[in-house]
This record gives sequence, structure tokens and C-alpha cells, in this order.
Amino acid sequence: MSQGRSNGKFILTNYFNKKLHYLSPIMISTVPQNLLLQNRHRGVQYSQLNTEKFMCGIVGAVAQRDVAEILIEGLRRLEYRGYDSAGLAVINDQHQLNRLRSLGKVQVLSDALDAQPITGGTGIAHTRWATHGEPSENNAHPHISGEHIAVVHNGIIENHESLHNTLVQRGYIFTSKTDSEVIAHLVHWELAQGDSLLEAFQRTIKQLEGAYGTVVLDRRDPERLIAARSGSPLVIGLGIGENFFASDQLALLHVTRRFLFLEEGDIAEITRRNIYIHDVEGMLVERNVQESTVKHDAADKGPYRHYMQKEIFEQPKAIISTLEGRINANSVLIESLGHGAKKIFQKAEHIQIIACGTSYNAGMVARYWFESTAGVSCDVEIASEFRYRTFVTRSNSLLITLSQSGETADTLAALRLAKKRGFMATMTVCNAAGSSLVRESDIAIMTRAGTEISVASTKAFTTQLTVLLIMVTALGKQKGTVSAKKEAEIIRALHLLPAHIEQALMFDKRIEVLAEGFADKQHALFLGRGEFYPIAIEASLKLKEISYIHAEAYAAGELKHGPLALIDANMPVIVIAPNNELLEKLKSNIEEVRARGGQLYVFADESAGFQASQGMTIITMPHVEEICAPIFYIISMQLLSYHVALIKGTDVDQPRNLAKAVTVE
Ligand code: GLU
Repeated sequence: MSQGRSNGKFILTNYFNKKLHYLSPIMISTVPQNLLLQNRHRGVQYSQLNTEKFMCGIVGAVAQRDVAEILIEGLRRLEYRGYDSAGLAVINDQHQLNRLRSLGKVQVLSDALDAQPITGGTGIAHTRWATHGEPSENNAHPHISGEHIAVVHNGIIENHESLHNTLVQRGYIFTSKTDSEVIAHLVHWELAQGDSLLEAFQRTIKQLEGAYGTVVLDRRDPERLIAARSGSPLVIGLGIGENFFASDQLALLHVTRRFLFLEEGDIAEITRRNIYIHDVEGMLVERNVQESTVKHDAADKGPYRHYMQKEIFEQPKAIISTLEGRINANSVLIESLGHGAKKIFQKAEHIQIIACGTSYNAGMVARYWFESTAGVSCDVEIASEFRYRTFVTRSNSLLITLSQSGETADTLAALRLAKKRGFMATMTVCNAAGSSLVRESDIAIMTRAGTEISVASTKAFTTQLTVLLIMVTALGKQKGTVSAKKEAEIIRALHLLPAHIEQALMFDKRIEVLAEGFADKQHALFLGRGEFYPIAIEASLKLKEISYIHAEAYAAGELKHGPLALIDANMPVIVIAPNNELLEKLKSNIEEVRARGGQLYVFADESAGFQASQGMTIITMPHVEEICAPIFYIISMQLLSYHVALIKGTDVDQPRNLAKAVTVE
């Protein structure tokens, strides 16, 4: 091994074996299947309930052309998920393995590649979001063993300590503090025991506990990549005379639009011309090729400065697409919610919503709707709480999970648990086709928001609410609690919603000015009542996420039970004040704040009768139909947090410490 050089920004290491030694390629397709299965592991161990996952970026390629640039572009397209370091390893024509890693943005890696070009047609790349070992070049993936095995890994290997100890006893020297490095050494060890890379990898996978998407290559078998999926998504991208792996199809849209989605427990092998997928039992299986429907420009900011801004402004269009085919002029098309939805709604006596973060807030709004409009009792719970507590399943309870990505670890675990615990049926409201929640729920209702790239969710939230309102209407219709008149009213409001959101977006400039009053503040308080209480919670979450201002939300009636003590001239208090039956109560709460010198910003319906005064700014909003008002009011809250973040100069699309789509448990 020639020791790599480090210029402080990146490390380039050139691995090569002086006695070049090639393994003969494994021609699995020519071997009868029953023979193939003889020594194959039956049943890769993966516990459905322990699939804690994290979704950072993996890209892999086997091609005739040079792949380094393709890999880098793939990583770039996954950047929005959040990560701390990146790296790649490519096998060149001389069967040497070159690795390049860097701390920070993919651009740093790309600059390093410009400075030190790497050629070769087989490679793997990774963006890391550290779980074990600090973010550093040394801990960045790929990890290498024996100078010929390279591995990238998303997720967590829970039993890494014991594996590490065993490997140290076998003489392996660890060069990183990650849990992932054990995979590289294990593959190396297993390969040394004999058999093919595939078999060595299968034996390795059997020893791993935890969640992973992982891809391995062997410099001595240079036209092959092998990957495993267990709790962390992986897709295969099909090219012409070239094939790819990625943790998300987005990462490969610059090279292909044809994909195979791996399932839990799958191990897949790709060469330039062949693809072999082995299921959890080790059986060779076929998976359907799917043409991607993701738009080419999904990862393009267009005229906008940030993805978040773009996504806020895409909401009218996103909602039109959410509504399409699901409602007609004055009624809801229940069949459009999925085969069997009607029967499920007829039977359902209780709704249990499970979600995390912004999706949880959408669930909280929907709870008001399910009970007040459909007359069906509804509970909402944070997935990470639900999955670990002893709960009582209500009779004929319908479980609804909400998730933008469909891969949220806790929500998925909760769904899997619920399926064993007597729920009548499971539905998911999700933005990602082919995701785990979609595949594993009885019914999936897609939000159709289009790819959401900004970590702070906006259009996923409003389209979730739109779907939920359609569901509430359909459920109420089945139960007889929503009359034809009421149904027509809701449908009319839904038809008007995109135009109302356009109106809300026109407040952008006004809110930009308002945001200046927040930039030097340490704290903020959001108030709402009824379904605007969860809207206040979502507003405070947005502000926290991207401006790092400590923000809290309270049901306005709770003020006097504690938070009033916080009010002074330095505390901006944002109030959401539509003109509904709680308006008078809310006005009293506003007075409580005013009397204590709080700085009020009231987003009020034009007919609510507020007058601006000392310490009280009124933002007069057009009147909108009451049922859709929560969706309307969140738009101005999104704009507010966006503009505050801009003034504060934070990384709007990739806020510190956060990642898109999925969290570790
Ligand atoms: N657990 C691994 C590490 O800390 C992988 C994290 C990731 O998914 O990026 O390196």
C-alpha cells in the first residue's frame, strides 16, 4: 500500500496489490438455482422492530466509463439529507483501489477529485452522518480492509463492539472509530475463508445486528458490487451496459430512470450486464423494473434561493396535484383512497395516528377534524413513544401513519408493532412511492407533493393535511356524520385552497419586513386555539429548525398556567387568529399578553376586528373557509421562519444537526 497523502482537506490513498490476483467472476446465472442455494444462508437475521435506520447517502456504479464524477453528482443530489463528510473509492484499469475522503460538503470532495483525478469504472461513494465516531476524514466512508475490500454503510451496526473485539483478536487493525468498519474487516475475513465475494458477504450480513444499507467492492474482482438492505433503503439503477446502486433514486436520475427497489433482507449483486437479487431466504428473486416518475428538475432550485423557498411557493401546485382525482365538483371520491378504503371506513370506530415531527403536527390538526367533522374518536401519538409503551388497542381501530419519506424509523417500527397488536387496518399518508411505509401498510395514500429537499418540511405538511381532510370527509360520509351539504362545503373549500395559498404567498414581502423584528431575539412564543394550536406548534418547530431561535407553542388558554411568566418586551408572541368561535376567547388571551408588555404579532382574519396599537402588530389576512384555515395560516408561518433564518444567515436547507427524511431512533 502506498501511504496516502493528506493536505488537511482530503486524503487520497492508493491501494494496490503487488501480486495482482483476480478472482474468477462468479457466473451465477449459469448455475442451476438448487445448486446455488446449497451453501447459501437461509434467513438473514433482521428484526423488524429493531430496524433503527438512518438514511444518509450511498451511490455505487459498475460501468465501462469513468464513474468518479457520476458518483460525486449522485452524492450532490443526496446532499439535502444532511451529512458531515463524504468519500468515494474507485477501482481503476490497473485494478488499483483509490480512495478519496473529505470532511464537510460534497464540493470539498469534488475539489479534491479535480486536484487528483481518479479514473475507473467501478466505485462506491458515501455521505456520512456520524453516529459512531466524530465527523472526520478518518471516519468517513468508504472503509477499507486488506487493501482490497471497500465498504460504505448507512445505519448502525448495534453489535459492532463484540464484532470489533473478535476482529482485533484475529489481527485486524481498525483505522476509524465507526461501527461501519467492522463490515469491511468481516467481509475480508470471510473471503479469506474461501468462496466468492457474494458468499463472504452473505456470511458477513448474517453476523450483523442493526440497520443498514451497505455496498461492498473487491479490487480483485473489479467489475462487481454487492449490496444488502436491512432497515435502510437501497435501489438498483439500470443503465445500458452499466448498473448502479443508491440509497435513493434521486441520486441516479442523471444516469437512469429505470429502477429496481430492493426489499428488506435483500442482497443484490450487480455487474455491468447482470443483476442478481437474493431475498432474505437467500433465494434468487426477480423484482419489477420501475420507471421513475420523479421530475428531472426535482433537485433543481430554479429561480429560488433555497429549496425551502421553492417548496413553500410550490404549495398551490402541490395541493392541486394532491386533490386530483380524489374529489369532484362537490363530493369526495372514496375509491380514489384505495381499494378497500370504503370498507375500512365503514368499520372504523377509532383512529390512531402515529408520526414524528412535522407529520405529528399534521396528525394533531387532523385529530380536531376527525372528531369534530367525522365524529370518530382519534388519538395522535409520537412514534418513538408509542412503540415503547404498553398501550391498549381500541376495538376497530384504524392506524394511520404519516411520514414524508415513508422511511421514518420510529414510525415504521410503530406500524410493524401495530400490525401485531390487533389494529383493524393500517393506512399511511406518505410522499415517497415505493417506501417502506407504503409497501407495508394496507392502504397508502400518496401526498404527491413532489420531492421535498429542504430539511424543514413545508409542502409535505400541507399536502398531508389536504389528504387528511379528504380522509375525514370520506370517513364522515361513510359514518353518516358528514351530510351531503357538509361534504359539498368541504369540497368547495378544498377547491378554493390552492388560490387561497397563492394569496398567502403574496404576504412574502410584508413578512420579510416583519422578520427583522425577530432576528435579534432569543425566544419566541406562538399561540393558537383549537386546530390552530397544532399550527402554532408547527410554526414554532419551523422557527427552531432553521433560525435556531428557541420557540415554544402554547394553546392560548394555557397562558395563565405558566408561560405568562415569560412575557416581557423581548418576547415576540405570534398569535394565529382566524375568525372562528374561539375568537373572543383568543382576544382575552391576547390582552393578557398585552398587559404584560409582550410584543404581539397577530395574524388575523380581516373580519376579526383587531386594531394595531403599541406593542401589537396586526397582519390582516383574507377570510378563508374555516375548515381549510389551518392549511392557509401555516403558509405565513413558514415564510416567517424562512425570512428570519435568512436574516440570521443560517444554512436554511440544511440546518445544523438535522437531516432529512429519517432519524436514527
Ligand atoms: N454508523 C455509521 C457511521 O457513523 C454510518 C452513519 C451513516 O448512516 O452515515 O459512520
